[in-house]
Amino acid sequence: EAITIQELANRMAERAVDIIKFLMKQGEMHTINDVIDADTAQLVAEEMGHKVKRVSESDVVEGLSGDTDAPEQLKARPPVVTIMGHVDHGKTSLLDALRKTNVVSGEAGGITQHIGAYQVETPNGIVTFIDTPGHEAFTSMRARGAKATDIVVLVVAADDGVMPQTVEAINHARAADVPIIVAINKIDKPAANPVRVRNELLKYEIVVESMGGDTLEVEVSALKGTNLDKLLDVILLQSEVLDLKANPDREAGGMVVEAQLDKGRGPVATVLVQRGTLKLGDIFVAGSAWGRVRALVNDKGVQVKEASPSTPVEVLGLNSAPEAGDQFDVVPNEARAREVTEYRERKRRETRGAASARSSLEQMMSAIKEGATEFPILVKADVQGSAEAIVQALEKIGNAEIKARVIHYAVGGINESDIGLAEASKAVVLGFNVRASSQARDAAERAGIEIRYYNIIYDLVDDIKQAMAGKLAPEL
Ligand code: GDP
Repeated sequence: EAITIQELANRMAERAVDIIKFLMKQGEMHTINDVIDADTAQLVAEEMGHKVKRVSESDVVEGLSGDTDAPEQLKARPPVVTIMGHVDHGKTSLLDALRKTNVVSGEAGGITQHIGAYQVETPNGIVTFIDTPGHEAFTSMRARGAKATDIVVLVVAADDGVMPQTVEAINHARAADVPIIVAINKIDKPAANPVRVRNELLKYEIVVESMGGDTLEVEVSALKGTNLDKLLDVILLQSEVLDLKANPDREAGGMVVEAQLDKGRGPVATVLVQRGTLKLGDIFVAGSAWGRVRALVNDKGVQVKEASPSTPVEVLGLNSAPEAGDQFDVVPNEARAREVTEYRERKRRETRGAASARSSLEQMMSAIKEGATEFPILVKADVQGSAEAIVQALEKIGNAEIKARVIHYAVGGINESDIGLAEASKAVVLGFNVRASSQARDAAERAGIEIRYYNIIYDLVDDIKQAMAGKLAPEL
C-alpha cells in the first residue's frame, strides 16, 4: 500500500509541509504529491504522535467499484454486444452494416467515428456494439478481469458452416458465461445453406429456436442489409431476458475499450461506462493512468457532458494512455487517484516479477484445497480421435466435489488464442503430440500459464487425476 503525502497529511490533519520536513531530516526529498510506501507513512505518523491503523491492501482499490447499489437504484441499461465467428464469415461487414442502420435524426455531427465501440438506436431500444470483432479482444479483456460483454453474436456464414474459429468463439462465450445469438450470414449467396449451419451447431450443443432449442437465431445478409433490424430486435429480446441493469446515479466506473496517444489531443481512451454516470470534471483512474475528464466525445464525434451506463465515450484528460481491458473508476480527489494508480503500478510490477505460474497444476491443486469445484482444462491434439478420447477420459475424472472441465479442445498446435482463453478461464493447457508456437509460448510465459506436453493419453489423464487428488509428480 502507498499513500501521497497530501493524503497522509489530510488523514492526520497535519500540514503536508511538516511531513516533507520530517522526511527531509531522514534524508528523503519529497514534494506534496509524491507517493510514499506504507512503512514510511507509518513511521511518519508515529513520529508525529499519531496512532496508526494499517488498512488492508484491498482498501486502496476495492470499494471503488463495489456492487453496493440497492435494487431500487438500478435502472435498465442497453446490452453490450461482441460479434464473434470464423474469419471471413462477415463480422466486420456486419458491424459496418449495423452501424449504418443507425439513423438518429437531429444529432449534430452524425458521422460515426471509430472509437472502439458504438451504439445503435432502434425504436425498441439501444444496443452497444464492441467494434473489435473476434475473440482476441474479448478474451484479452476477460483475462484482465473485465466483463465487457452481455451477449455474443456468433456469425456463421451460411455457405461455409461451422469452422474452427466458430467453435473457439462458442467456447469463449461459454467460458465467460455469456449467451450466444446465432447470426447465419450471407444468406444472399446461392450456395447458402442455413439448415446445414443449424445442424452443425447441434454438435456443439447449440440448439437454435427453429430446432426446438432456446438459442435465438437470425438469418442475415450483411452485404444486402437483410434482417439487420430483426437481429437488433432479437438482441434486445435477449437483453430483456437478462434483465440488464445499472445504477446511473453514482460515481462512474467501467472498462477501457481502446486507448492511444493522439498527436493533437494527447492520451485518449475510449471507456465503456458500466455503472454510474461519467461527467466532465470527474477525476478518475484507468489502469495505472489517471486524469480529470476534460472532454467527452461520443461515437458520433459529438462532445457530450456526460455518459450513462453502457455508453462508450472517448475521454480526454489522462496523464498517460491506459490499456484496453483496464478498469476505470471515478475517485473523489487527485490524492486518491495517485494512491490508486501507484498501488496498481506496484501490483503490476509485482505480478510481472513473480515467476510462479498463475495457472499451473500446482496452482490448481491449491485452488481445489480452497474449495474450487471445477478444474478448467484446454486440450490441443494432433488428431480428432485423440482429442475426443482425451476429452472423454478427462470428463470421467472427478467426484462430487471436483470435476475436470474441458473448456476447449481442438486439433492443431497451441496458438496464442488458446493461451488467451486459458488465461481468461484460469485453465491449464495440455498438448498431445503437438507443440506451442513461439508466440504462444511467449504469451504463456507472460501470463503465467502452464503448458504440459504429452504423447501418451494415460500419462495425461494420470497427471490430471493426481493433481485433482492433491498429489502431483514433479514436472519432467
Ligand atoms: P470477417 O473476417 O468475419 O470480419 O469477414 P468480413 O466482414 O471481412 O467479410 C469477408 C468477406 O465476405 C468480404 O468479402 C465480404 O464482402 C463478404 N461478405 C460479408 N458478409 C456478406 C454477406 O452477407 N453476403 C455476401 N455475399 N458476402 C458477404
